[in-house]
Amino acid sequence: MKRKIIMIDENKCNGCSLCTDACHEGAIEMINGKAILVKDEYCDGLGDCLPACPTDAIKIIEREAADYDEETVKIRMEERKKAKQSKSDSIGCSGADAQVVQLKYLIEKKNWRIKK
Ligand code: SF4
Repeated sequence: MKRKIIMIDENKCNGCSLCTDACHEGAIEMINGKAILVKDEYCDGLGDCLPACPTDAIKIIEREAADYDEETVKIRMEERKKAKQSKSDSIGCSGADAQVVQLKYLIEKKNWRIKK
């Protein structure tokens, strides 16, 4: 079925990745430094990503494409959210780590010496 869908001009894309955040469906990913529409089913064709692009690399065109799949997008976005959360959890430090950092700071600042 013909429908509206985005088209990204790879030659105009500067790799800024602003469109990946602007797309609410996770339809665009950065691959080898270029924005790519990963699957037709993820793009609703509304073009929320267009205003984010500083190089005018994204256009809405009409072509044969699979239907937008809202259910698949919901599942995908939930998985991406979980992956992002677990990534930020693994980067963060534990409460014990934070206490050690704070103690080291106090020792340095107050010129404290640890008694033996
Ligand atoms: S916003 Fe435009 S220039 Fe930036 S990554 Fe997306 S398509 Fe490329």
